Amino acid sequence: MITSNHEFMKALPIIKKIQEAGFEAYFVGGCVRDALLNKEINDVDIATSAFPAEVKKIFPKTFDVGIEHGTVMVLRKNETYEVTTFRTESTYQDFRRPDEVVFVRSLKEDLKRRDFTVNALAMDQEGQVIDYFGGQNDLKKGLIKAVGSPEERFFEDALRMMRGVRFISQLDFVMDNETEKAIHKNHALLEHIAVERIQVEFMKLLLGKGRQKALKTFIETELYYYCPELSLYKNELTSFAGLEGQIPTQLAAWTLLLAFLEKSEDEIEPFLRKWKCSKKEMQRVKTAYIALQQRLKAPLTRLSLYQSGYDIALEVEAMLPFFNCESDIAYLEEVKASLPIRNKQEMAVSGNDLLQQFNAKPGKWLGEALDAIERAILLDEVVNERDQLLDWAHSYLKKKRDNS
Ligand code: ATP
Ligand code: MG
Repeated sequence: MITSNHEFMKALPIIKKIQEAGFEAYFVGGCVRDALLNKEINDVDIATSAFPAEVKKIFPKTFDVGIEHGTVMVLRKNETYEVTTFRTESTYQDFRRPDEVVFVRSLKEDLKRRDFTVNALAMDQEGQVIDYFGGQNDLKKGLIKAVGSPEERFFEDALRMMRGVRFISQLDFVMDNETEKAIHKNHALLEHIAVERIQVEFMKLLLGKGRQKALKTFIETELYYYCPELSLYKNELTSFAGLEGQIPTQLAAWTLLLAFLEKSEDEIEPFLRKWKCSKKEMQRVKTAYIALQQRLKAPLTRLSLYQSGYDIALEVEAMLPFFNCESDIAYLEEVKASLPIRNKQEMAVSGNDLLQQFNAKPGKWLGEALDAIERAILLDEVVNERDQLLDWAHSYLKKKRDNS
């Protein structure tokens, strides 16, 4: 399994070097799980019995990223590798992070504190899998099952409950009964977890292959109740859970969710702010949401393509099948090619031109006039050519004066 995988092969010298120095070192966690499932591996994690200071002595180039958690970043041939000391987490008081990290020399102790059996696997340099908790069997069964007592594990770290439903979706697995019961019983602990961390898991859930199943569990265990802005939307979430097909992007995930929650345009930003989305993301989602609503009613227009931008318009086309509408990329390309301008900079007159031409002072009127000209160009009311635009602006401003 190691030799057939480029990521493992690249990282193998790191493991060998640690062993030559007299310590144990293994591949652990998600990379072993994904390799056994014949999936592509994201990042290779290495766990070792060497303490951080010992790891730093073995390699000439290291960085102390996350050293307080026992992780040393090793730089080798322009690539970085995370090497983490075996550890147990002693006492948890606030349901989210261990009070202190305790380094240990035993692999088994390290694997015991991991969240699910399929994530508690290790692999040595020969490709031998080390499996103390039946992880390989659960991989075969397609089961997400807590390591040890599920309730204790969720008390230690409530984020694990969200991780559990996220893995149902990502791996297209189902949840073990006891584990699911423990989540239901303790779902309120999610309240202690930072929204940013919940968001990461929720997004992975929405983008996974098993989203429908995962959302069903997310609703049944009542985890949704402690996620921002979802507590009153059980019915809407349930119909969202019935939606078929894998969601392609994070933008599509937010936009589809908002559509199922039947949010108005004005509610989008407050909703996403509660989820701690960035300003940029809020804007992109709102733009996509407006474009989607328009597109569901009518074929694409130049104006709406211009307003959303090509990239978002393309994403909106990909969302149409979720509403039983056909996407029409060829027409999108046609409209794009026919756009007389792609942005304000391409207009043949500028704000300065208008100020000079009309010998006027800047003010609110100027922005409004530029917006009106832009719109007129896109609606083919005037050609994007300087003299014609100035003529058009002249009659526009005259009409405005006459009306006021
Ligand atoms: P992904 O493909 O999303 O990276 P992953 O399983 O690698 O999946 P990570 O968040 O990268 O997930 O974590 C790496 C490993 O660390 C996990 O496989 C698991 O063994 C352990 N782990 C991560 N978070 C927790 C947690 N909250 N509680 C217990 N173990 C955890
Ligand atoms: Mg990972």
